[in-house]
Amino acid sequence: MHVRFWGTRGSLPAPLDAAGVRAKLKTVLARARGHALADDAAIESFIDQSLGFAERATFGGNTACVEVDTGADEHLILDLGSGARALGNCIMAGGRPGKRAVYNVLLSHPHWDHIMGLPFFAPAYIPGHRIRIFGGHTDLEHALRRQHAAPNFPVEFDQLGARVEFVALDPARSHRIAGADIGLMRQHHSGDSYGYRITQNGRSLIYSTDSEHKIEAAADAYPFVDFFRGADLVIFDAMYSLAEAYTIKEDWGHSSNLVAVELCHRAGARRLCLFHHDPNADDGAIEALLSDTVKYEALSRDSAAPLEVVAAYDGLELDL
Ligand SMILES: [Zn+2]
Ligand SMILES: [Zn+2]
Repeated sequence: MHVRFWGTRGSLPAPLDAAGVRAKLKTVLARARGHALADDAAIESFIDQSLGFAERATFGGNTACVEVDTGADEHLILDLGSGARALGNCIMAGGRPGKRAVYNVLLSHPHWDHIMGLPFFAPAYIPGHRIRIFGGHTDLEHALRRQHAAPNFPVEFDQLGARVEFVALDPARSHRIAGADIGLMRQHHSGDSYGYRITQNGRSLIYSTDSEHKIEAAADAYPFVDFFRGADLVIFDAMYSLAEAYTIKEDWGHSSNLVAVELCHRAGARRLCLFHHDPNADDGAIEALLSDTVKYEALSRDSAAPLEVVAAYDGLELDL
């Protein structure tokens, strides 16, 4: 499986502003003092080797949208946040040769940040294209129709050129979608959300966003440990630091970086990807959260096999 992240923010898009770009430029130019940057190759090498991620790049501002290539001839997409606009444009520009115009979408839940990209997903306007929206909720059609309704959007849902279908998934069994086996699990979140386990060719990907893990997560029989068991990659809602998650932001429906590490360790997962970044966190804050998480992982590890920790950014690609 190949995974590409198109949107990694939670709650609301959070674009980098002019002051943010200027601050990066100032840092980079200060760092460049004394470096010989005579040609493009020297500049590229300076960018890659002398600058941290938050200095040379940005985690991005789009909300949740992740593309999974299972090798099948149909698309598989996790959530339709604002990142779906760029994905749709990439597909329309011919960026996915060999795929049919069938888009299988696994929706975690219908909160705005996970559906706001559909009205800007170009394939939705093309007759002959087919969008199949899967989820554990039974009222997804209502939620998606509503965001197209006047006065909130100029194009009514029924005017979309593509055929859009809704399929409610039974969490009690496994489903075969886009060449992969799909399991789902209800998560603690306002209005419920669903996490997905996507398995193909012996590799497993967990997509678990908008999920709060409360004190019962410490119990031996906590079901998420089994759900995450042996996963090659766990994409996890680590919107907050532990201190935030257990104080002022308790019951806000999200989790922390440290709970992510603990659950992944217990489950024997191989790689953790921090996801659903707080729109209030700038690039430096997300990089610091990642750094703290990596340190905590090393301190709390009780097996020889390390859990690799990365932070998602718009444009990140991972192979499983
Ligand atoms: Zn969200
Ligand atoms: Zn939510």
